[in-house]
Parts: sequence; structure tokens; C-alpha cells
Amino acid sequence: MNFRLLSLFFLVLAVNPAFAADIVRDYPVDQIAPNTFVIHGPLGYPAVDNQGFMNNPGFIITDSGVVLIDPGSSVQAGRMVLKQIGSITDKPITHVINTHVHGDHWLGNQAVAEAYPEAVLMAHPDMIRRAHAGAAEEWISLMTRATDGFTEGTRAVIPTKSTSEIGTLETGGMTFRFHAPERAHSGTDVMIEVVQESVVFLGDNVTHKRIARMDDASFKGSIAACEIAAGLSANRYVPGHGPTGDASIVAEFQRYLTTLYNEAARLYEEGLSDFEMKPEIVQKLEAYADWVNFEDQVGRHISLAVLELERNSF
Ligand SMILES: [Zn+2]
Repeated sequence: MNFRLLSLFFLVLAVNPAFAADIVRDYPVDQIAPNTFVIHGPLGYPAVDNQGFMNNPGFIITDSGVVLIDPGSSVQAGRMVLKQIGSITDKPITHVINTHVHGDHWLGNQAVAEAYPEAVLMAHPDMIRRAHAGAAEEWISLMTRATDGFTEGTRAVIPTKSTSEIGTLETGGMTFRFHAPERAHSGTDVMIEVVQESVVFLGDNVTHKRIARMDDASFKGSIAACEIAAGLSANRYVPGHGPTGDASIVAEFQRYLTTLYNEAARLYEEGLSDFEMKPEIVQKLEAYADWVNFEDQVGRHISLAVLELERNSF
């Protein structure tokens, strides 16, 4: 093969997802507390350009190993997360905690299970149940489609331990308290409070600079989740998507939810339908207009809020 043909061959390798590598491209590790680190994924939906990776994997280094939260959307993402953890510590991963059933957060478990078969995988009992009942397969095929095959080879490694049964995890001198808000983002949610670090991992109950999908959520439950999270008075809050911050990021998302829900309730009382109330509500939510996926989700959120109001009025 001459040189020109060879470079053409590598060019094809680089641009064709069918020849994709077995690992997602590197993303930086951000230290957010003395022993707590987050890899902040890009904002947006899973797609070819982000290789399906768009959540916020986090890890905490304890005296006896590493506790990993939400290792990403595919085995390829999980491998990148392990590589980045390896750049910070040689300690083994002892535990994995998944915040909810949506596959963008946990399909990376496979990479952990391959590298650390002893690691204990934990999630809300309803996450475990729903993953087995079809959600796992749905998410695997969604990821494959969204990335044009990049995540091919990803298998579901579903947690076996229930966070509700454990309640609090004590390991390597660190305390992890599980808070499970009911009917919040997905009905399978757990928020993780890392006590000694004063950090809370929120799952998708709170997103920042990116509007969450609410298709599996309830507004009332999500608002209650924000109240629970704020009540923990932590220094740092890690959203499921978007930059980490202080308690103000929880308040900001809560304000989005309450404004949308209360305005929908008021206009519903006035007899307006979801599409008729949209312009007025969008105006009240002006502060969020530059959040990723706002345009895409706000109309859907209003419809979902109206459905929830109808359900609650019976
Ligand atoms: Zn998510």
C-alpha cells in the first residue's frame, strides 16, 4: 500500500463510526472537593459527535479504594472513566453507585465489572427491577442508534445491591448517605451525600445549564427532590448534567420547575390548553432560554405539567 492510500485508509478510520475505537475520547477530571472528582460530560443528547458520552461520572477516593458514581453511557465511556481515574490514583474501584435507570448514566458499569470483578454495584431497587424488565435493552439500542454504532458491544451490567436496603454506605473512612426522593426524575432516583466531603450527587433530579427530560418525571416529585437536596446544606452539588456548583444550582433548577408548574396550573384554571399557554410560560422562563435543550423540551414540559395537573385533580 503506498503512502497516499495508507493515509486515506486512516482518514476513513477516523471519520467512520463503524471503525470506531473501543474507548471514548478523553475528558478532563475536575477536583471538586479534597477527595472528590467529576468528569463533566458535554451537554446535549447522546450523538455521533459526543460518542454517546454526556453525563457527569464522579468518583471519591477513600482509604480503601474508589467509589464511582454513574460511569457513563457505554462500555467505551466506562473505559475512558477508568483511564482518567487511573491518572489520579492506583486504588481499585470498590463500589459503583448508579443514580437512576436511564442508561446514559450506568451502561459504563460493564467496564468496571471487566476491570474490577469484585466491585459492588448499587442502585435504587426500582432501578434494578426496571433495568431487568426491559429498560436496559431499550437504552442499549437507543445508544447504538444515537451514536451510529459507536457503542456497539455494550452489555447491561445491572447492579445487584439495593441502596434502600443499605441506607448508608461506610467505606474507607467515608460515609455515603442515600436519599431516594419519590416520583422525582425517573421513579428510580437516588441522591448520594458524601458526608466528609460535603458533596451531594443529585442524579438528574437537578440539571444545570441543560434542561432535563421530564418524560418519566413528576414536577411535584422533582420539586420535592430539590428541597431534600437543598436541606442537606452541602458545599458542592453535582448535577446529572452540566457544571457542578453550590446550593444555588439546586435553587435555580427548582425555580424552573416551580415557575413552569405553577404557571401551567394558573393558566389551566383559566381554561387554556398546553399550546395556548406556551408563549406566556416561555416568557416567564426567559432566564433559561440559553440552557441546552430548552427550545426542544419546554413545550413538552408544559404538556407533561398539564397531564400531571389533570391526574392530581381527580
Ligand atoms: Zn441523564
